[in-house]
Amino acid sequence: MAIKVKSGLETYTDEPRFHFDIYAILEGGQELFFGHETQVNVNIVETVTIPVSNDGDTDELEKCYLSPTKRRGVERRSLIWAPTGNGLLGDQRNCGIPHTCSKVECPICRVFGGLITSAIEIEGESEKRPATTLIGRLTHSGGVAIQALGPEEKQRAMHPSMMRKPPEEDPTPTPFRREYNQPGLLYPVYNHCMSMTDSEFSAVAYAFMGALARLGAGNPKGVKIHDAPLTKTDEDEPWVVVDRYLAPLGKRPVVSPVITDIDLAKDQFTKAAFSIAGSEQQRTSELTQGNFHRYVGDAAITKISEYLVNFEKEVLNNVDAETDN
Ligand SMILES: [Zn+2]
Repeated sequence: MAIKVKSGLETYTDEPRFHFDIYAILEGGQELFFGHETQVNVNIVETVTIPVSNDGDTDELEKCYLSPTKRRGVERRSLIWAPTGNGLLGDQRNCGIPHTCSKVECPICRVFGGLITSAIEIEGESEKRPATTLIGRLTHSGGVAIQALGPEEKQRAMHPSMMRKPPEEDPTPTPFRREYNQPGLLYPVYNHCMSMTDSEFSAVAYAFMGALARLGAGNPKGVKIHDAPLTKTDEDEPWVVVDRYLAPLGKRPVVSPVITDIDLAKDQFTKAAFSIAGSEQQRTSELTQGNFHRYVGDAAITKISEYLVNFEKEVLNNVDAETDN
C-alpha cells in the first residue's frame, strides 16, 4: 500500500508564515488529579524525579507534573468540542480522537497533526480515507511543578452502582483513596508552533485558552494563568509571554525543573522574558527587534484575544451568536 507522507506545511492562503511560542506559568486553584501515564485505575498521580546536587552529592527530588502530552490531548479536545452552529467542530469535520481526519483543510489537524495507519472506511464518507501522516507543527513542553510538594492522598467516596452490588445490599458509598496534586502548585508550560500562518495560530490560541478550565482528570478540574507583578512592580498581570518571529532572538522564559523556590523561578522567567538578542531590555509589555515580536503579561493576553476573535470569525462563524437562530 502506498504511504502518503505530508509535511503538513502546505498552505491554502497567501498569508505569510511565522514561528509562534507561548510561555506561561499556570496555577492550580484547587487539588488536581493527573493520572500516572501507565498506572490506569490505581488513582496515583504522575510525578517526575529530578536529580539535584546537594553539596557535591547527587540527590533526587519528586515533583508533581502536568504532562505536556495530557495538555496536548485536552487542547485538541477543546477544538473538537468547540461549538459551531448547532454542532461541534469535530463532528462538522468528522475529526476526533483517535480517529483524526488528517486533512490539511482541517483547522485541528493542520496544527496538531493526524495519523491514519491504513486506509479506513468512515461512516458518512463515500471514499475510504487513505493512510496519511500529517505532521503536527504544534509541540508542548514544560509542566514540572516549581514547588517540591509531593502528591497528597485523599479519601473519596463513590456511590455503589447496582451493577456492582445487588439491590438488597447496604447502599453505603464505597470509599476509595486517590492522590492529588496540591492546590497552589505552579506549572511553567510552553507551546511552540513552527512555520504557521496567523490563521493557523488562531486555532492554537483557542486550544491553549480553552484547555485551561478543563485540565485534569475527573473533578475538580482547571488551572489559571498565575497573576503577579510582571512588567510593573505594583500591578498583577498574567504570567504569559507570546512570541511571533522568523528568527528566535528572544531568550526563552523556561524555568529550570531543578528550582524549587518560587522567587528564584520567577526571577529566571522574568530575566529571560526581558532579554532579546543577548541584551537585557526595559521591562515593557511589548518588545520588538526586527521581525521578532514579544508580548508580555496583559499585552500577551490582548494579542491572544485577537487570535481568539479571528478563530471565532473564521472557523466557528456559521451562526450568529447574538440571536438564537
Ligand atoms: Zn482533522
